Amino acid sequence: MKIEEWVEGASSAAILGHIHPDGDCVGSCLGLRSYLRTVKPALRVQVYLEPFAGEFHFLTGADAVSPDFCEEKSYDVCFALDCSDRERLGDAVRYLDAAKRTVCVDHHITNEGFADVNVIRPQASSTSEVLAELMEPEKVDQATAECLYLGIVHDTGVFKHSNTSERTMQIAGALLAKGVSSSQIIDDTFYRKTFAQNRILGCALLAAELRLDGRLIASCVTGDDLARCGVTNRDLDGIIDQLRVTEGVEVAVFLYEAGAGEFKVSLRSNDLVDVSRIARSFGGGGHVKAAGCTASGACAEILERITALEADELRQES
Ligand code: AMP
Ligand code: MN
Ligand code: MN
Repeated sequence: MKIEEWVEGASSAAILGHIHPDGDCVGSCLGLRSYLRTVKPALRVQVYLEPFAGEFHFLTGADAVSPDFCEEKSYDVCFALDCSDRERLGDAVRYLDAAKRTVCVDHHITNEGFADVNVIRPQASSTSEVLAELMEPEKVDQATAECLYLGIVHDTGVFKHSNTSERTMQIAGALLAKGVSSSQIIDDTFYRKTFAQNRILGCALLAAELRLDGRLIASCVTGDDLARCGVTNRDLDGIIDQLRVTEGVEVAVFLYEAGAGEFKVSLRSNDLVDVSRIARSFGGGGHVKAAGCTASGACAEILERITALEADELRQES
């Protein structure tokens, strides 16, 4: 089924993404918004997302996103994008529950399909890639293409992660042909860091330790570290990737304090280990090589539990 069919007969649509929106989440939500405005101008479209990184604010429609999920409203169609389960929608789940028809477009292997219509493609690099496949190419304009291109760039780590397929490059190429400024998007939204972002990266690298004979690297930053560097949780993208490329490392773990006694955990695997299994055992989810969860307790104790699980996985693989 194509996007146009999902909004047939509808006069309003909501678009939702996951909590702590990343590039793919913001890109796919705003890309779908732009596309819907092109193919069905009479449709009222509202995007609901938590506040997201300033680098993404140049995208068309970023200023029309509502960070307020309190409003009681019912939409004819509700899209949930880049979101592996209902909980990841946060309080915006109310718009899913109140909608007449729900559609989930995603690429997480752990997604069990929580909407009326589910398009889940774990082999796709990103939700933006899945959406591009669902759109009529001639109706994708530059604004839509920029959003989807940004989403693909971010979830593939600039076309370098193993989720980058031949198809990913073909789709990215078709988006480029719409007039996307590739190097600007890559430099301005992926590589450029504020001074404060560099400081928290340095802090995380200094705190890093090797475990399991150097096959696991782990680092944790506390709420105090975040305050000292003057950053929020929106400034931590890229830290886990820097940990992962450490020589000899198979699995990288990065924790940051998200609230009192609560830590957000990011997991990355280079080759052997399925980190989505570990994330799932903590109630999280994700992909084979990139997954996450939230865990309660002391940082050291959470790391011990993860280390034990990783040790089991590594033993099975070797
Ligand atoms: P992150 O480490 O936050 O960049 O997340 C890596 C991958 O795991 C992303 O695809 C996320 O969507 C997914 N993920 C992260 N945290 C969670 C969670 N608490 N529950 C389910 N999936 C998650
Ligand atoms: Mn995401
Ligand atoms: Mn994604």
